Amino acid sequence: MIRKLGLALAVFALVSTESWSQARRSEQNHAERFEQLGTMLRSPNVYRTASGAPGHMYWQQQANYVIDVELNDDNQSISGRETVTYINNSPDVLTYLWVQLEENQRGPESDAPKVAESSINSRMTMRTLEGILWENEEFGYKVLNVKDSEGNALPVAVNKTMMRIDLPEPLKSGESFSFSVDWSFNITDRMSYISGRPGYEFFPEDGNYLYTMAEWFPRMAVYSDFEGWQNKQFFGRGEFALVFGDYEVRITVPADHMVGATGVLQNPEEVLSATELERWNKAKKTYDNPVIIRTQAEAEKLEKGKSKDKKTWIFKAENVRDFAWTSSRKFIWDAMAVKQGGKDVMAMSYYAKEGNPLWEQYSTRVVAHTIKSYSAKTFDYPYPTAISVEGSNGMEYPMICFNYGRPDKDGTYSEAVKYGMISVIIHEVGHNFFPMIVNSDERQWTWMDEGLNTFMQFMAEQEWDRNYPSRRGPAHKIVPYMRSEKQYLEPIMTNSENIIQFGPNAYAKPATALNILRETVMGRELFDFAFKEYARRWMFKHPTPEDLFRTLEDASAVDLDWFWRGWFYGTEPVDIAIQDVKWFKLDNRTPAENKAAEKAEFEREETYISKEFNKADVPQTVLEADPATRDFYNSYDRFAITPEDEEEYKRFMASLSPKEKELMNSDLNFYELTFENVGGLVMPLIIEFQYADGTSEIERIPAEIWKLNETEVTKVFAKEKEVVQFVLDPMRETADIDESSNYWPRQYQPSRFELFKGRGGARGASTGDNPMKRAQSKRK
Ligand SMILES: [Zn+2]
Repeated sequence: MIRKLGLALAVFALVSTESWSQARRSEQNHAERFEQLGTMLRSPNVYRTASGAPGHMYWQQQANYVIDVELNDDNQSISGRETVTYINNSPDVLTYLWVQLEENQRGPESDAPKVAESSINSRMTMRTLEGILWENEEFGYKVLNVKDSEGNALPVAVNKTMMRIDLPEPLKSGESFSFSVDWSFNITDRMSYISGRPGYEFFPEDGNYLYTMAEWFPRMAVYSDFEGWQNKQFFGRGEFALVFGDYEVRITVPADHMVGATGVLQNPEEVLSATELERWNKAKKTYDNPVIIRTQAEAEKLEKGKSKDKKTWIFKAENVRDFAWTSSRKFIWDAMAVKQGGKDVMAMSYYAKEGNPLWEQYSTRVVAHTIKSYSAKTFDYPYPTAISVEGSNGMEYPMICFNYGRPDKDGTYSEAVKYGMISVIIHEVGHNFFPMIVNSDERQWTWMDEGLNTFMQFMAEQEWDRNYPSRRGPAHKIVPYMRSEKQYLEPIMTNSENIIQFGPNAYAKPATALNILRETVMGRELFDFAFKEYARRWMFKHPTPEDLFRTLEDASAVDLDWFWRGWFYGTEPVDIAIQDVKWFKLDNRTPAENKAAEKAEFEREETYISKEFNKADVPQTVLEADPATRDFYNSYDRFAITPEDEEEYKRFMASLSPKEKELMNSDLNFYELTFENVGGLVMPLIIEFQYADGTSEIERIPAEIWKLNETEVTKVFAKEKEVVQFVLDPMRETADIDESSNYWPRQYQPSRFELFKGRGGARGASTGDNPMKRAQSKRK
């Protein structure tokens, strides 16, 4: 409309002094960043719909286990027998089954140590060298007998961490097959070079062991509509793809051990003392504080003896994808009830005295908080228990997880230990939701559970403590990774085993991306509904990345293909710059005012012309010498106003509607901002306008502004107030890797560099990281 009125715009431009490459611009102008993902996604079908939900013929396999296992505390080994009933719900006929043997990853046939790169340094730890030598003859499955339900041996082929059982007859759709496996292996020291998730920790001071048993029995591999058998070898990093089923597990351990496990303890009367049973029953009705069922004093007493008797603990678990357990005579045990979805969940912790005072104060409370926080954003926690075990570790299993966080021997601890412990408990308990219940394929995609869980963990942390350390710049923390050199960057959509920068790529970047989706791209309301819908749709099922991508769009009406493309399939960073700002004001002057302004401008220009120089150089021009060369234009007043000018102006003003007149008389500032996409990853523009009067305002422009030109866009903002400073992404939401270009006028801040004398380090003495210890020593 402004252009139709035929008004000139007077320009008061703040001209950029920066230059940029025209060639690079045209090259990147259209890199299809807004094209639909199309064939990059798996085709929808009757099992998985185009909207990201399970299809009308969705199926998944089931495996039920009955297991008897005995722990030998004298030589740190276990042996067991399991009966597996495998139910073929697929439409396919199966002629063999694949079973996972993760324990063999630590055995002599393992490829894991062979493919691990190694090098010699002038200074090396013993553990690193032991890792290079990797003596593993005694590990891996020692006994492995597979039999059918009649007790006849079944033909098997063991290929390192995978075992194929050849079926006597093809297993048709809807049929089930039962087989048993006898097995045994030596438990590894997870504190040694072998490390790994399961194993034991030895406490030399009291001569006791603490066992965290995981990946401890042959488990059914997943057979699915999207991948067939998931029988990729286990190299130690790409975790697990597992089948849901019901478990009954009988665990025989020394009589003075305390056992915690996936599922519900079936025989507390047999394995607990009368006092413990009484406290356990009290805990089941206590909602405000954890009840200690085995105290530190009781555990310390048990540490000193070694019972030769045995006890068998019986656990049952329904609809779980795995089963893990822990056992030690060192364990303190506490528990409390949490109301969740109309039923009670028992939040519990098992820890040795080495974990106190931290564990007694925090662990079970954090478990309870995590269940509530995650449930509110997904679905009601469906399992009867949730357990946190102190095991110098951080690893998750259904209903039980192994965590770290020990104070110093004097009972003090640093802030890092405290928050590290709370974070790892939130994280590992949170894994109950992803991937224990929303059961993605971890061996293929680490990010599908770690990324989603890290994102949820961040929100649970903010709900725990307003000053939680992670509150600062959740998006900005990914910047160092996004800035790293191209050869170290891979898309989030990279297989678990092939990831170079594992933590940033599979945890932090997807978590950051989801946080940006929620806070910046979709908004909380749309995101939370869609995310919950994904969790609800895929609860107790096997989702793929496509199911997540499609559901978040399906439930929100936000086209996110560009976002998945940039953040999940690409490696480009966010780096958007304010390239230029031009300032315009509407020309609403009268003809007289206009001419006066023109005259002033003309005269200003004249001052730049060195008349003295011209005079000296050209004593007399032709025109000055010869009147015959002059005409009208050599003497007319170019700044005089004609009656026509006046008339036209009057006519124009009379033609204006009241609304148009109002606009004409307004004193709006028009700011034409040019943004350059330096990094490549397109993102919304979040612009803060800081005004001359000290106030400010933020405008948000969706990422689609880049859809016609992915390299440079220009946009006009009309403001009544005068802007003194433009800031792009003022709240650091987008992980922009170069913030110096986010200001107009540019702002520069000095970086400090340290000066010190001699060979010493920091100028000031080290402040240490345990203020609690310093406070205590002051008191003494
Ligand atoms: Zn995790």
